Amino acid sequence: MSAPPSSSANTPIDTRGSAHPRSRACLTRLTRFALLLLLHACGAPHTPTGEPIDADAATPASRPSPPSPPPTPPEPPEAPEALEERQQRREIEALLALGPAATASIGSPADGQLRGGVALPLRGPGFRFQPGKNGRHGTVELVAALLRAAAAVHTAHPGGLATIGELSLPEGGPIAGHGSHQAGRDVDVLFYLLGADGAPIPSKAIPLDPAGQGADYGDLLDPTDDQPVRIDLVRTWAFVEALLHAAGDDLQRIFVVEHIRGLLLAEAERAGAAPELRERFAAVTCQPGFPHDDHLHIRFFCAADDIAAGCTELDPIYPWQRERLAALGLAPVKAAARRASARPKLTTHEEARAKAGPMHQDVIDFLDRRRAWIRQPHPRRPYCR
Ligand SMILES: [Zn+2]
Repeated sequence: MSAPPSSSANTPIDTRGSAHPRSRACLTRLTRFALLLLLHACGAPHTPTGEPIDADAATPASRPSPPSPPPTPPEPPEAPEALEERQQRREIEALLALGPAATASIGSPADGQLRGGVALPLRGPGFRFQPGKNGRHGTVELVAALLRAAAAVHTAHPGGLATIGELSLPEGGPIAGHGSHQAGRDVDVLFYLLGADGAPIPSKAIPLDPAGQGADYGDLLDPTDDQPVRIDLVRTWAFVEALLHAAGDDLQRIFVVEHIRGLLLAEAERAGAAPELRERFAAVTCQPGFPHDDHLHIRFFCAADDIAAGCTELDPIYPWQRERLAALGLAPVKAAARRASARPKLTTHEEARAKAGPMHQDVIDFLDRRRAWIRQPHPRRPYCR
């Protein structure tokens, strides 16, 4: 592909979701491309003077009045950015202080609800919620783990930004474009991406090939606006590692295309990750029917205190999860068959491709090449179907 050098690496990250006409046009194009990628179907309070009430106050005139304190100089107005950052910090601190009982996941990821769900903030240290998406609500366990993982990557590898996609709707239930995401325990996290010059760029849902490369095709008819991208393995692995740390045994599943799983395992080894962590990642990752070649789909188990509230699990339930619950006198509850009313409307690859309309040859070639890895049967692993 003869793409010009990426200019997007120098583009400031628009974390505020403002849409001037050019970015709107860009969004329209992106939306069009996103259709292709539908894979499954956010004055200082006055201190009281504290003067004691004087019993003689009825005759104040008879007493000399104390010297009045010098006036406090007015505080300089706070910059909007600083104010926003402070509010963000407060919001996140409050979120992280919530106990496990604050939220309850009811039913299963494919047929469930969310009670008391907490919203992922639109942005914070090391992350932004994916622009144009709706479902920002999840269980306190999931949202807290995401905040911690993004912050850890931000500290260890500043300069990138996690783009966190949809979790669930405020009360859960079917959500457009997702086969699950109904009970506050699922989230999509886009891969961290690098532009042509190797610098981090804001992540988008761009499918990546077995070399971890893809292109932001922009206008599908215009080959001159294509921007090559590749996965930022260092940050994407660092996020996964931090999430495994933060979530521990709560993490049930990471859906991701087989070839990106392999690249992440290689990066984990290169980065010197603990063998137990690498093994855990290897055990919990699977490529589902939809390929997940542009994001990680992460699922949490029911929190122990949600089981009594009716939280149920899809497969797999690992031996370590059974042991963990048994130690608490609990057992996992398998989900019943999904009710017809819980089935979301999904778009097939063929429908998405047809809807995307005409496109130039490089896009067609990429989509043809993509057939090689979508809907690949899984290599036989104990916890993959
Ligand atoms: Zn998902």
